[in-house]
Amino acid sequence: MMRRNKLYLLNVCFLCVLNLIYSKNYVLKNPYNKTITSELISAKNTINFKEVYSTNLTIPQLKENMTSNYKNEIPTQWGEKTTGVKTQINTTDKIIALTFDACGGSALSNGYDSELIYFLRKENIPATLFINSRWIDANYNAFMALTKIPQFEIENHGYLHKPLSVNGKSAYGIIGTQNIGEVVDEIILNEGQIEELTGRKPKYFRSGTAYYDELAVKIVNEIGEDAVNFNILGDAGATYTKKQVSTACLSAPPGSILIFHMNHPKKETAEGIMAAIPKLKMMGYKFVTLDNKNLSSYFSITKDYFY
Ligand SMILES: [Zn+2]
Repeated sequence: MMRRNKLYLLNVCFLCVLNLIYSKNYVLKNPYNKTITSELISAKNTINFKEVYSTNLTIPQLKENMTSNYKNEIPTQWGEKTTGVKTQINTTDKIIALTFDACGGSALSNGYDSELIYFLRKENIPATLFINSRWIDANYNAFMALTKIPQFEIENHGYLHKPLSVNGKSAYGIIGTQNIGEVVDEIILNEGQIEELTGRKPKYFRSGTAYYDELAVKIVNEIGEDAVNFNILGDAGATYTKKQVSTACLSAPPGSILIFHMNHPKKETAEGIMAAIPKLKMMGYKFVTLDNKNLSSYFSITKDYFY
Protein backbone atom coordinates (compact mmCIF):
# COMPACT_ATOMS: atom_id res chain seq x y z
CA MET A 1 0.00 0.00 0.00
CA MET A 2 2.80 2.33 1.08
CA ARG A 3 4.71 1.46 -2.10
CA ARG A 4 1.70 2.19 -4.26
CA ASN A 5 1.28 5.63 -2.61
CA LYS A 6 4.93 6.42 -3.25
CA LEU A 7 4.58 5.45 -6.89
CA TYR A 8 1.49 7.59 -7.19
CA LEU A 9 3.28 10.58 -5.68
CA LEU A 10 6.24 10.06 -8.00
CA ASN A 11 3.90 9.98 -10.94
CA VAL A 12 2.16 13.20 -9.91
CA CYS A 13 5.53 14.94 -9.44
CA PHE A 14 6.70 13.75 -12.86
CA LEU A 15 3.55 15.12 -14.51
CA CYS A 16 3.94 18.45 -12.65
CA VAL A 17 7.53 18.84 -13.89
CA LEU A 18 6.48 17.91 -17.43
CA ASN A 19 3.72 20.49 -17.27
CA LEU A 20 6.10 23.14 -16.01
CA ILE A 21 8.56 22.46 -18.83
CA TYR A 22 5.84 22.66 -21.44
CA SER A 23 4.18 25.79 -20.09
CA LYS A 24 7.57 27.50 -19.58
CA ASN A 25 8.58 26.84 -23.19
CA TYR A 26 5.27 28.01 -24.41
CA VAL A 27 5.22 31.25 -22.45
CA LEU A 28 8.82 31.96 -23.40
CA LYS A 29 8.24 31.31 -27.08
CA ASN A 30 4.81 32.79 -27.53
CA PRO A 31 4.94 36.59 -27.59
CA TYR A 32 1.22 37.03 -27.14
CA ASN A 33 0.41 34.77 -24.18
CA LYS A 34 -2.68 33.38 -25.79
CA THR A 35 -4.79 31.00 -23.77
CA ILE A 36 -4.76 27.65 -25.51
CA THR A 37 -5.94 24.13 -24.99
CA SER A 38 -3.42 21.53 -23.85
CA GLU A 39 -3.70 19.49 -27.07
CA LEU A 40 -2.20 22.37 -29.03
CA ILE A 41 0.78 23.16 -26.82
CA SER A 42 3.01 20.56 -28.37
CA ALA A 43 2.18 21.65 -31.94
CA LYS A 44 2.77 25.31 -31.07
CA ASN A 45 6.11 24.58 -29.36
CA THR A 46 7.30 22.62 -32.36
CA ILE A 47 6.61 25.58 -34.66
CA ASN A 48 8.70 27.92 -32.56
CA PHE A 49 11.75 25.67 -32.63
CA LYS A 50 11.51 24.82 -36.29
CA GLU A 51 13.19 26.44 -39.27
CA VAL A 52 10.76 28.21 -41.54
CA TYR A 53 10.03 26.12 -44.59
CA SER A 54 12.45 26.45 -47.52
CA THR A 55 14.17 29.52 -46.00
CA ASN A 56 16.51 27.64 -43.61
CA LEU A 57 15.88 30.38 -41.07
CA THR A 58 14.22 30.32 -37.68
CA ILE A 59 11.28 32.65 -37.12
CA PRO A 60 13.40 35.30 -35.26
CA GLN A 61 16.02 35.22 -38.05
CA LEU A 62 13.34 35.54 -40.72
CA LYS A 63 11.82 38.53 -38.88
CA GLU A 64 15.20 40.19 -38.64
CA ASN A 65 15.90 39.65 -42.37
CA MET A 66 12.52 40.97 -43.48
CA THR A 67 12.80 44.00 -41.20
CA SER A 68 16.21 44.83 -42.61
CA ASN A 69 15.22 44.15 -46.27
CA TYR A 70 12.19 46.42 -46.13
CA LYS A 71 13.39 49.10 -43.71
CA ASN A 72 13.45 51.82 -46.38
CA GLU A 73 10.08 51.01 -47.96
CA ILE A 74 6.97 52.91 -46.96
CA PRO A 75 3.58 51.58 -48.04
CA THR A 76 1.10 53.89 -49.76
CA GLN A 77 -1.95 51.60 -50.06
CA TRP A 78 -4.33 50.29 -47.40
CA GLY A 79 -7.44 48.19 -47.99
CA GLU A 80 -8.94 44.97 -49.33
CA LYS A 81 -7.61 45.51 -52.84
CA THR A 82 -3.98 46.49 -52.70
CA THR A 83 -1.20 45.54 -55.10
CA GLY A 84 -0.62 41.78 -55.14
CA VAL A 85 -3.90 40.68 -53.50
CA LYS A 86 -5.63 37.98 -55.57
CA THR A 87 -9.37 38.32 -56.06
CA GLN A 88 -10.46 35.93 -58.81
CA ILE A 89 -9.66 32.71 -60.61
CA ASN A 90 -8.25 33.46 -64.04
CA THR A 91 -10.80 31.60 -66.18
CA THR A 92 -13.89 31.99 -68.32
CA ASP A 93 -15.14 28.53 -67.26
CA LYS A 94 -18.30 28.48 -65.18
CA ILE A 95 -16.58 27.75 -61.91
CA ILE A 96 -16.78 29.64 -58.63
CA ALA A 97 -14.96 29.29 -55.33
CA LEU A 98 -16.83 29.59 -52.06
CA THR A 99 -14.50 30.68 -49.24
CA PHE A 100 -15.46 30.72 -45.57
CA ASP A 101 -13.60 32.56 -42.82
CA ALA A 102 -13.48 31.26 -39.24
CA CYS A 103 -12.23 34.18 -37.17
CA GLY A 104 -12.52 33.31 -33.45
CA GLY A 105 -11.41 35.51 -30.57
CA SER A 106 -14.69 35.97 -28.67
CA ALA A 107 -17.69 33.88 -27.65
CA LEU A 108 -19.61 35.32 -30.59
CA SER A 109 -16.82 34.81 -33.10
CA ASN A 110 -15.88 31.30 -31.90
CA GLY A 111 -19.12 29.81 -33.26
CA TYR A 112 -19.26 26.90 -35.70
CA ASP A 113 -21.96 26.77 -38.37
CA SER A 114 -22.39 23.00 -38.44
CA GLU A 115 -25.61 23.28 -40.46
CA LEU A 116 -23.69 25.05 -43.24
CA ILE A 117 -20.89 22.47 -43.21
CA TYR A 118 -23.43 19.62 -43.19
CA PHE A 119 -25.13 21.11 -46.24
CA LEU A 120 -21.86 21.52 -48.16
CA ARG A 121 -20.92 17.93 -47.37
CA LYS A 122 -24.33 16.55 -48.31
CA GLU A 123 -24.25 18.41 -51.63
CA ASN A 124 -20.56 17.61 -52.15
CA ILE A 125 -19.69 21.29 -52.65
CA PRO A 126 -15.93 21.91 -52.36
CA ALA A 127 -14.98 24.96 -50.31
CA THR A 128 -11.90 26.77 -49.04
CA LEU A 129 -11.86 27.42 -45.30
CA PHE A 130 -9.69 30.29 -44.03
CA ILE A 131 -9.12 29.44 -40.37
CA ASN A 132 -7.66 31.70 -37.68
CA SER A 133 -5.53 30.28 -34.89
CA ARG A 134 -7.95 31.55 -32.21
CA TRP A 135 -10.81 29.62 -33.84
CA ILE A 136 -8.69 26.44 -33.83
CA ASP A 137 -8.00 26.98 -30.12
CA ALA A 138 -11.72 27.20 -29.41
CA ASN A 139 -12.83 24.42 -31.80
CA TYR A 140 -9.96 21.95 -31.83
CA ASN A 141 -12.07 18.84 -32.40
CA ALA A 142 -14.23 20.43 -35.10
CA PHE A 143 -11.09 21.76 -36.80
CA MET A 144 -9.43 18.35 -36.85
CA ALA A 145 -12.61 16.78 -38.22
CA LEU A 146 -12.77 19.38 -41.02
CA THR A 147 -9.16 18.73 -42.00
CA LYS A 148 -10.06 15.11 -42.74
CA ILE A 149 -12.80 15.94 -45.25
CA PRO A 150 -11.23 15.97 -48.73
CA GLN A 151 -13.66 18.46 -50.29
CA PHE A 152 -12.45 21.17 -47.88
CA GLU A 153 -9.19 23.04 -48.34
CA ILE A 154 -7.76 24.55 -45.14
CA GLU A 155 -6.00 27.89 -45.51
CA ASN A 156 -4.47 30.54 -43.28
CA HIS A 157 -6.58 33.31 -41.69
CA GLY A 158 -3.81 34.57 -39.41
CA TYR A 159 -2.69 34.13 -35.83
CA LEU A 160 -4.38 36.98 -33.97
CA HIS A 161 -6.77 38.07 -36.74
CA LYS A 162 -5.12 41.45 -37.26
CA PRO A 163 -5.28 43.67 -40.34
CA LEU A 164 -1.91 43.20 -42.03
CA SER A 165 0.00 46.46 -41.70
CA VAL A 166 3.71 47.19 -41.36
CA ASN A 167 2.96 50.20 -39.18
CA GLY A 168 -0.14 49.58 -37.07
CA LYS A 169 -2.96 50.85 -39.28
CA SER A 170 -6.48 49.82 -38.23
CA ALA A 171 -9.57 48.51 -40.00
CA TYR A 172 -13.09 48.38 -38.51
CA GLY A 173 -11.61 49.52 -35.18
CA ILE A 174 -9.22 46.54 -35.04
CA ILE A 175 -5.60 47.59 -34.59
CA GLY A 176 -3.33 46.07 -37.21
CA THR A 177 0.09 44.49 -36.85
CA GLN A 178 2.53 47.14 -35.62
CA ASN A 179 5.66 46.28 -37.56
CA ILE A 180 7.24 43.80 -39.99
CA GLY A 181 8.03 41.34 -37.18
CA GLU A 182 4.35 41.17 -36.21
CA VAL A 183 3.37 40.76 -39.89
CA VAL A 184 5.67 37.71 -40.09
CA ASP A 185 4.23 36.29 -36.83
CA GLU A 186 0.66 36.83 -38.04
CA ILE A 187 1.35 34.74 -41.15
CA ILE A 188 3.84 32.16 -39.98
CA LEU A 189 2.57 31.13 -36.55
CA ASN A 190 -0.80 30.02 -37.90
CA GLU A 191 0.74 28.57 -41.07
CA GLY A 192 3.09 26.49 -38.92
CA GLN A 193 0.31 25.40 -36.59
CA ILE A 194 -1.91 24.29 -39.47
CA GLU A 195 0.97 22.38 -41.04
CA GLU A 196 1.81 20.70 -37.73
CA LEU A 197 -1.80 19.63 -37.23
CA THR A 198 -2.71 18.65 -40.80
CA GLY A 199 0.57 17.78 -42.56
CA ARG A 200 -0.19 20.33 -45.29
CA LYS A 201 1.32 23.80 -45.51
CA PRO A 202 -1.29 26.44 -46.35
CA LYS A 203 -0.84 28.13 -49.74
CA TYR A 204 -3.16 31.06 -49.23
CA PHE A 205 -3.49 33.77 -46.60
CA ARG A 206 -6.37 36.10 -45.83
CA SER A 207 -5.74 38.67 -43.10
CA GLY A 208 -8.18 39.40 -40.29
CA THR A 209 -10.63 42.04 -41.74
CA ALA A 210 -9.09 41.30 -45.22
CA TYR A 211 -7.08 44.57 -45.04
CA TYR A 212 -3.42 44.83 -46.11
CA ASP A 213 -0.85 47.36 -47.14
CA GLU A 214 1.08 46.42 -50.26
CA LEU A 215 4.33 45.86 -48.37
CA ALA A 216 2.64 43.33 -46.09
CA VAL A 217 1.35 41.54 -49.22
CA LYS A 218 4.96 41.26 -50.45
CA ILE A 219 5.91 39.67 -47.14
CA VAL A 220 3.05 37.14 -47.48
CA ASN A 221 4.50 36.25 -50.91
CA GLU A 222 8.08 35.98 -49.63
CA ILE A 223 6.92 33.53 -46.99
CA GLY A 224 5.45 31.45 -49.82
CA GLU A 225 1.73 32.19 -49.68
CA ASP A 226 -0.64 34.26 -51.84
CA ALA A 227 -2.85 36.91 -50.23
CA VAL A 228 -6.39 36.06 -51.32
CA ASN A 229 -9.49 38.21 -50.97
CA PHE A 230 -12.60 38.13 -53.13
CA ASN A 231 -14.54 39.81 -55.94
CA ILE A 232 -17.96 39.04 -54.44
CA LEU A 233 -18.86 40.01 -50.87
CA GLY A 234 -21.00 37.03 -49.88
CA ASP A 235 -22.25 37.89 -46.40
CA ALA A 236 -20.55 41.17 -45.32
CA GLY A 237 -19.14 39.78 -42.10
CA ALA A 238 -22.22 37.54 -41.62
CA THR A 239 -24.49 40.60 -41.47
CA TYR A 240 -26.43 39.90 -44.70
CA THR A 241 -29.97 38.50 -44.70
CA LYS A 242 -30.74 35.22 -46.45
CA LYS A 243 -31.98 37.19 -49.48
CA GLN A 244 -28.85 39.36 -49.64
CA VAL A 245 -26.56 36.30 -49.40
CA SER A 246 -28.47 34.52 -52.13
CA THR A 247 -28.49 37.60 -54.40
CA ALA A 248 -24.72 38.00 -53.91
CA CYS A 249 -24.15 34.36 -54.90
CA LEU A 250 -26.28 34.66 -58.02
CA SER A 251 -24.40 37.79 -59.13
CA ALA A 252 -21.06 35.92 -59.33
CA PRO A 253 -19.43 35.83 -62.78
CA PRO A 254 -17.24 32.84 -63.83
CA GLY A 255 -14.03 32.60 -61.84
CA SER A 256 -15.45 34.45 -58.82
CA ILE A 257 -14.12 34.10 -55.31
CA LEU A 258 -16.89 34.68 -52.77
CA ILE A 259 -16.25 35.43 -49.10
CA PHE A 260 -18.54 34.19 -46.30
CA HIS A 261 -18.22 33.26 -42.63
CA MET A 262 -18.61 29.83 -41.03
CA ASN A 263 -18.33 31.10 -37.46
CA HIS A 264 -21.75 32.75 -37.04
CA PRO A 265 -24.31 29.91 -36.94
CA LYS A 266 -27.09 32.22 -35.75
CA LYS A 267 -26.82 34.47 -38.79
CA GLU A 268 -28.38 33.85 -42.23
CA THR A 269 -25.29 32.95 -44.26
CA ALA A 270 -26.12 29.22 -44.43
CA GLU A 271 -29.74 29.82 -45.42
CA GLY A 272 -28.74 32.16 -48.23
CA ILE A 273 -26.20 29.68 -49.58
CA MET A 274 -28.69 26.82 -49.40
CA ALA A 275 -31.16 28.90 -51.42
CA ALA A 276 -28.59 29.90 -54.06
CA ILE A 277 -26.71 26.65 -54.71
CA PRO A 278 -29.46 24.75 -56.56
CA LYS A 279 -29.99 27.81 -58.79
CA LEU A 280 -26.25 28.15 -59.49
CA LYS A 281 -26.13 24.48 -60.41
CA MET A 282 -29.03 24.96 -62.82
CA MET A 283 -27.12 27.87 -64.39
CA GLY A 284 -24.27 25.41 -65.09
CA TYR A 285 -21.86 26.46 -62.35
CA LYS A 286 -19.41 24.08 -60.71
CA PHE A 287 -17.74 24.72 -57.37
CA VAL A 288 -14.02 24.50 -56.77
CA THR A 289 -11.43 25.10 -54.07
CA LEU A 290 -8.59 27.56 -54.70
CA ASP A 291 -5.92 24.87 -54.63
CA ASN A 292 -3.86 24.79 -57.85
CA LYS A 293 -5.93 27.51 -59.51
CA ASN A 294 -4.43 30.36 -61.47
CA LEU A 295 -5.43 33.39 -59.38
CA SER A 296 -5.42 36.99 -60.58
CA SER A 297 -5.93 40.49 -59.26
CA TYR A 298 -8.85 41.89 -61.24
CA PHE A 299 -9.07 45.45 -59.98
CA SER A 300 -7.37 48.76 -60.32
CA ILE A 301 -6.01 50.57 -57.31
CA THR A 302 -8.40 53.45 -56.75
CA LYS A 303 -7.77 56.43 -54.55
CA ASP A 304 -9.95 54.81 -51.86
CA TYR A 305 -7.08 52.45 -51.31
CA PHE A 306 -4.43 55.06 -50.76
CA TYR A 307 -3.36 56.29 -47.35
ZN1 LIG B 1 -12.00 36.86 -40.06
